[in-house]
Amino acid sequence: MTSVTEPSRTKAVADPGHGEAFTDHMILMDWSETGGWTRPEVAPLEDFSVHPGMIGLHYGQVAFEGLKAHRRTDGSVAAFRPRDHARRFQRSTRRLAMPELPEQAFVDAIGLLLGLDQDSLSDDPAHSIYLRPLMFATDVSLMLRPSRTYRFALMAFVAGGFFGDDVETVNVWISHEHARAFPGGTGDVKIAGNYAPTFLAQRQAEAAGCQQAIWLDAEEHRYIEEMGGMNMFLVRGSGPGAEVVTPELTGTLLPGVTRDTVLKLAERLGYLPRTERVSLDQWRAECADGTVSEVFACGTAAVVTPVVGVRDTVGGDWTIGDGGAGPVSLALRRALVDLHHGELADPEGWLHVCRPAR
Ligand SMILES: *Cc1c(COP(=O)(O)O)cnc(C)c1O
Repeated sequence: MTSVTEPSRTKAVADPGHGEAFTDHMILMDWSETGGWTRPEVAPLEDFSVHPGMIGLHYGQVAFEGLKAHRRTDGSVAAFRPRDHARRFQRSTRRLAMPELPEQAFVDAIGLLLGLDQDSLSDDPAHSIYLRPLMFATDVSLMLRPSRTYRFALMAFVAGGFFGDDVETVNVWISHEHARAFPGGTGDVKIAGNYAPTFLAQRQAEAAGCQQAIWLDAEEHRYIEEMGGMNMFLVRGSGPGAEVVTPELTGTLLPGVTRDTVLKLAERLGYLPRTERVSLDQWRAECADGTVSEVFACGTAAVVTPVVGVRDTVGGDWTIGDGGAGPVSLALRRALVDLHHGELADPEGWLHVCRPAR
């Protein structure tokens, strides 16, 4: 096992990539049937020692979340929509027969970690702290049954932009061979087992010069769903009244907090937010006749990232709009970034300020 050494941590904080510039601490809580959740313990971020026969390792009884905290222009650090992430974490763990962490305990753990580690975050507005709550089954047993003990661990790393610090554009690759999620499955929750099965398609996408794979519905392989770590939007038209469209939640898409935020920001900016089932054929045709002028991916990690090209080995490749970032995508991205930094009104109370621990 490798851990992040001090010199590499300092370098990584100055020049964050994505996923390795961990901050100094973690928050731990343990659960048992008799005792419930323990009080949160602050620990230095260091290796765990686990038994090789731990249920979480073998049967994937593991759920997680991902949310960010940003430095606002007034210098304070605020987590974005932690209560919504807490509730999604509860849904994910419930789906895997795991105990729920109370919403307040989730939010308090985030406040505790950000209180200790917020100095890792520079004033660079492109940087943020990505928080990773994790719950895993700790019983030592190879019996095929749910664990009776669990550990919650909250860790964080300093993140730059997911695709680099500037607004980069991406190309996407349609996965016709595999499926990410199916009705009655687990595609609508954030559990560890959903991700490794997408790595092969991600590799195929990269081999084709793309940054992300697009997943189609598993039953008909006809409708566009999401990107396996980000939701997607199409834009019809530009300027006020433009339709900002995202595939509807059919139970096989992960209900992104960013997706929900973008739908609400779209309304505030005078666009028409819509959720629809969109087929791959319709998407292609609407790009060809100019109805769809922009496409973007969104997620906690990706923020809003314009999609400019599609590689489809079955129906043929195409370019979206003029092949560059479009105005509606950029306006939504700007609004989201301004909201994160406290520069846009926050009527919903989405920002959760975490004071430094002193
Ligand atoms: C986390 C995730 C997203 C994005 O969700 P956010 O809450 O916006 O970060 C989209 N799809 C999948 C499969 C995810 O795991």
